[in-house]
Amino acid sequence: RGKARAAFCAVRPPGHHAGPSGGVGSDRDPVATTGFCLINNVAVAAAYALSVHRELVRKVAILDFDVHHGNGTEACVGATVPGLRTVPFATPFSEGVQGFGVEEGPDTVFYPGSGGTSDSLDLVDRAGAGSAGPGDERSAAPRVIDVGIPGGRPHVALWRRSWRDKILPELVSFDPDLILISAGFDAHRKDVMNHCHIGVTERDYEWLTEHIMQVANRCKSHVVSILEGGYRVQGGFASALARSVAAHVQVLAHPSRKCWNEEDGQKERDLEAAQRAEAAKKRAEAEAALAAQEAALEAGGEAEAGDRKRRRRGGGAVDYLALNAKLDAENKAQTS
Ligand SMILES: [Zn+2]
Repeated sequence: RGKARAAFCAVRPPGHHAGPSGGVGSDRDPVATTGFCLINNVAVAAAYALSVHRELVRKVAILDFDVHHGNGTEACVGATVPGLRTVPFATPFSEGVQGFGVEEGPDTVFYPGSGGTSDSLDLVDRAGAGSAGPGDERSAAPRVIDVGIPGGRPHVALWRRSWRDKILPELVSFDPDLILISAGFDAHRKDVMNHCHIGVTERDYEWLTEHIMQVANRCKSHVVSILEGGYRVQGGFASALARSVAAHVQVLAHPSRKCWNEEDGQKERDLEAAQRAEAAKKRAEAEAALAAQEAALEAGGEAEAGDRKRRRRGGGAVDYLALNAKLDAENKAQTS
């Protein structure tokens, strides 16, 4: 009814791996979804809002910050184009086709085996603005933007930059009436399900939620956040999942009135650049100090080694007089 600005749905099981007709496969894994999700909650919510509340909601954006690729949601969004069928075939020029960049290496195996940086450059716009034109199949195809984060170690700064500099500016220009969030908290650094991917904390979820609410303020959007992954439940109320959900809901329930603006992003970028420069300077100073220390140790070590050599030479000199006296004494003892 438009009374609440934001809502959070604590639902389980998660839904973003469920496609339009169940599981979703990928090139790397044909049965990728493997039953982890039953119903795609955000896709159902988007369809419900666009049909039941069509007077209020004409454009819906879905944001997904779960550590795993929302392959089911992407398949549902892709399936909104009616009757589109892809028939693969090869031509002598097929090898030259430029694909989207994927940051994770091809050997990286991470559930559900799909994802990586891509931008379909297509836009759903029910009002018609921004569409590719009538008759063009792209006019009905939704735009999907993915940003892949390399695995193997935490990448918190890159994660923040991806949201702030890539996703959220696009969200602002899309100007949605409703923002649905696939709120997965399994990118938390204490959650073992992410195998060291991303590694954020509840402070980062709080930061992201604040920024999403700033976009919502600017676009006058409503926000519905729906729980996805997040498996670090050990510790109950003090667990990583509980703390992350609390930080997220706290901002949803008490958002600031601030609107998203580009200048704030630039200020954060400048601050980060200054911090990076400061860190690089400190690293260079520490390396120089270490090199000087090693050089001093080496010089001291050489001097000490020289002393040792000299001492060994002195100690090794034979006292022939004493040796002669000793041999004489032994001979006398044998003859007596
Ligand atoms: Zn997940």
